Amino acid sequence: MADILDQLYPPHTAEDWDSVGLVCGDLDSTVTTVLCALDPTIDVVYEAIEIGAQMIITHHPLFLTGIHSVARATLGGRVIHESIAHGIALFNAHTNADQANPGVSDALAALLGVTDCVPLVPGDRVDTGIGRVGRLKDPMSLSDFAERVATSLPGSAAGIRVAGDPHQQISMVAVCGGSGDFLLPLAANLADCYVTSDLKHHKVLDHPRDLCALIDVPHYSSEWPWVPMVASLINLKSQGTVTCVVSTISTDPWTMHFTN
Ligand SMILES: [Zn+2]
Repeated sequence: MADILDQLYPPHTAEDWDSVGLVCGDLDSTVTTVLCALDPTIDVVYEAIEIGAQMIITHHPLFLTGIHSVARATLGGRVIHESIAHGIALFNAHTNADQANPGVSDALAALLGVTDCVPLVPGDRVDTGIGRVGRLKDPMSLSDFAERVATSLPGSAAGIRVAGDPHQQISMVAVCGGSGDFLLPLAANLADCYVTSDLKHHKVLDHPRDLCALIDVPHYSSEWPWVPMVASLINLKSQGTVTCVVSTISTDPWTMHFTN
């Protein structure tokens, strides 16, 4: 199973600061049922136990900074304890899944109807890299495209935010699953609209929004499209030996939204 994942998402393409691969578990264990989710939360582990999965694949790592304890009382420790107690391996593909083709931003682009995509920042190969830019088959106004973004992505309490003229025609669209404000200047040069998450006030304020409108979506929503994509890729590559199930749990931490 880890072989298939390493083929899809070569570990060496991950950023130096990142944490990817097996978090706990035994590479020699037999895996027949896998649960795919965005985050390795305790609720996701309980879901894996319920469906009898031997492995959980997530995008985000359980640990990204140095830790000194996996005591059960800690959030991460509980995940580790429950996983090991139930024979469940934890595996994650993070920035290596951002780089890959098809990767996290390809899944987002596909869901929004953005086609003929190329990377915003090329990676190892010409078709891999960070972010994507492509075109809408039928150009539309910013407000219509924002409506499409809102209805295509999984529902969230936070909703989506738009910066730009609602009547602006959108043809070229740049996307970046996850926190993508570092790609703003590149996106502005190439696209009429940039869809990403975690955009900061000053970045948006200083950005030429008349050239490139911005749509800020919840981090969870922007990366969620990768989850069903990795599940179907594994189902295909394992040739029926593994059943990959898409988690039904939302790990979006935001639960309420008030318009003020
Ligand atoms: Zn992320």
